[in-house]
Amino acid sequence: MNKVASAVAFGRRQAKNLVKLAQGNLVVAPSLGSMTLEADDVRLAKQWLNSPREWFRNEETKQFHERFAEWNGSAHAYSFMSGRVALSAIIHALGLQPEDEVIIPGYTCVVVPNAFDYAGVRVVYADIELDTYGLDVAHVESKITAKTKAILLHHVYGLVCRDYEKTIELARANNLLVIEDCAQSTGAEFCGRKIGNLGDAAFYSSEQSKIFNTLQGGVATTNDAAIAARLEDFYNRAPYPDEARLTKHLKQIGYNYHTQKHPQRWWRRDVMNLISAPDDILISTNKGEEEGIKPPDYGCKMPAPVAALAINQLNKIDAFNARRRETAARWDAWCDEHEYNKPLVIENSLPTFLRYPVMVEPERKRDRAWALTELGVAPGVWFSGQLHPTTRRVEGCDKAAHAVAGCINFPTLMS
Ligand SMILES: *Cc1c(COP(=O)(O)O)cnc(C)c1O
Repeated sequence: MNKVASAVAFGRRQAKNLVKLAQGNLVVAPSLGSMTLEADDVRLAKQWLNSPREWFRNEETKQFHERFAEWNGSAHAYSFMSGRVALSAIIHALGLQPEDEVIIPGYTCVVVPNAFDYAGVRVVYADIELDTYGLDVAHVESKITAKTKAILLHHVYGLVCRDYEKTIELARANNLLVIEDCAQSTGAEFCGRKIGNLGDAAFYSSEQSKIFNTLQGGVATTNDAAIAARLEDFYNRAPYPDEARLTKHLKQIGYNYHTQKHPQRWWRRDVMNLISAPDDILISTNKGEEEGIKPPDYGCKMPAPVAALAINQLNKIDAFNARRRETAARWDAWCDEHEYNKPLVIENSLPTFLRYPVMVEPERKRDRAWALTELGVAPGVWFSGQLHPTTRRVEGCDKAAHAVAGCINFPTLMS
């Protein structure tokens, strides 16, 4: 489109928005990502943009590791540029070998099986339950073979998974290692302890759609000294992202704030998209990863500016999680009123409700316009496939397929 045409289109869109605004109607729905970004995070990113000579020093990362470990109640923490790389570090640290088998949920992000594939470890899928969308322990048990070395259990939507204790017990009884995928439930608690501390190692994500946000980022934790030594070995050998990538990264903190969080994002988003080049926007999972191809810059650790942002976000995480729980109570009431099942909050658990999952009729997932009209929200679709965001089928995981067809997710941070 030429400049005149795009200016005209911009004018039309914003005129419509102004009409909505004047009529007192909703101009823009709450976003599903970047809702924990605030003006101070943007300022911090800008300050770091101006001091590239400090980018690869280790003070901030060291401090973030200590702070995260303390907050999470874990003995050791190491930070990377994503949760998936933290998982790769864990696969190395646990000594998983080619031909070993690991049992994982048939309802996950494609980057999870990818991390095992990159290491040659064979992935075996088990089905989930529909109370908390976690692994179904009975199905896991049926998948154990002589080659099984580990189970990866996950806690999603901010919930603590239903079969948490039983899966750990099953693993211990069979001499299997346990990895906890806490990417969506960072900060959730079970029996007064943060999740991720019952298994052998756990990973967390600070990707833009998660509980805390550094645009991209992840943490691996463990309470075992030998595993920690091997995590540290992986960490020490991992490269930092290069300066060009980090420059884009730091600039995008402001972009995400103005396009996803700012109350006036309805026009700011439009302006920013007019002025920024599309290849300046970093995406979390590229097309190659969807096909199982390892990106050339995979495997980086977190540099100082991202760790500084992570510390700033960690300072606010509890307050945001408390607000998420308050909003969840509103969605509980909506479920009761409309006779939908509420997600299960297991006994002795404190969820963080990254999003509030509800199983609706498949047609109400396919076309979600009703939610905007009735509720003023645009629900998320996690997971849009059993190996999100791909549409690849995983055979033998019927409940996971059912969740893909009907599970929508309401936002829990509304402003
Ligand atoms: C986001 C996510 C991951 C991967 O985290 P990244 O930081 O994006 O690599 C893994 N598992 C689940 C369940 C996730 O939601």
